[in-house]
Amino acid sequence: MTTDSIDVSTPLAPAAPAAPHSASGEAIAVHDLDTVAPPPRPARRWIPKRVVATPAAYDHAHGHRIMALVEAQGIEVERLRGNRLTGLRGDTDRETYARAKSTMAIVVSPPARRTLQPIAPSADWRFDLAEGCPAHCQYCYLAGSLSGPPVTRVYADLDDILAGLAGYAGRGTITSRREHRRDEGTTFEASCYTDPLALDHLTGSWRRAVDHFGAWDAPVQLRWTTKFDDVGPFLGLAHRGRTRVRLSVNCRPVTTRVEGGTSRVEDRIIALRRLALAGYPIGLTIAPIIAVPDWRTHYGELLNDVAGALHDVPNLDLTAELITHRFTPGSKEILLGWYPRTRLEMDEESRSRKHGKFGAIKYVYPPATMAELRTWFHDEIAARLPACRILYWT
Ligand code: SF4
Repeated sequence: MTTDSIDVSTPLAPAAPAAPHSASGEAIAVHDLDTVAPPPRPARRWIPKRVVATPAAYDHAHGHRIMALVEAQGIEVERLRGNRLTGLRGDTDRETYARAKSTMAIVVSPPARRTLQPIAPSADWRFDLAEGCPAHCQYCYLAGSLSGPPVTRVYADLDDILAGLAGYAGRGTITSRREHRRDEGTTFEASCYTDPLALDHLTGSWRRAVDHFGAWDAPVQLRWTTKFDDVGPFLGLAHRGRTRVRLSVNCRPVTTRVEGGTSRVEDRIIALRRLALAGYPIGLTIAPIIAVPDWRTHYGELLNDVAGALHDVPNLDLTAELITHRFTPGSKEILLGWYPRTRLEMDEESRSRKHGKFGAIKYVYPPATMAELRTWFHDEIAARLPACRILYWT
């Protein structure tokens, strides 16, 4: 595929999720993120420079809703003649990346996406309302998934996608099989390849999904995670406890050095509190866990900040998902193309090599580092956030 023209209706190739970066304990090499040139660009609501729509998107009511939302924000929607989008190629890879990252395409989801897949260890099923994200995290796990310039695609056929979920209720193969997660019902993950709150002001898709699950009188749960704090439009929704929103958080050396265009972590924690007070089950996605120098202090501060924000929330339903940094040869290559000046450690020599589900190689922390991190997080979460249930460590 060239970058002169891309098929915006084509899904991103599935790949093993890669998380962010490097480790240390006393015995392990330390990578100091403080030496990284910081890109501290706090989140504002994303305004894409270019919005295009495929002809098929016009056949769907939600496509028109998205177009109305976009146009209400003063952005013109360009109608494509087919599924191909041109004009993305810049003089350099970096320029092509920047053009793609500031483009949103309103498309119809590929038919293959209607057959849901399990998404271990997060949920019984995954479904997609969009692919791509306008933020700039230097560890972004999408780098292992994207094929071609990272245009954000949002799906116009939302109503059909939501209607198609009914056939999967009661058929869970991941969380439903785990004794300690059965109370969640059949779980549906809706943030595998995007960040919902980076886009919902332009699509309304996740608000409609929350409403859909709120009205779905069955043991089911919608799940999504975000690095944005734009939760206001969700607080009044009739969610009926059937959506768990997780905030993706990290220690400050990570959030201030290698994340760009996301909300500040302190604002994410406030958003978590607001959601909890609105009765949502909530969660922490701590990812990617990186053993920066003095990581115990930095992650301890993060846990303390969360504990302080949630200490007086009545009937708190809080979970944690703990994901250590890893990378694949493919994601490393893409990330270095996108962020050539990154100091994010992706050194194969200091990692353990593992084979993923389909034989793909990934590089994770060595067993000693993993054990040290894992023990610390389990102990400290139990001590500082006793109400918190850890769902998994990976
Ligand atoms: Fe990637 Fe998530 Fe950052 Fe978006 S917010 S760039 S999806 S890591």
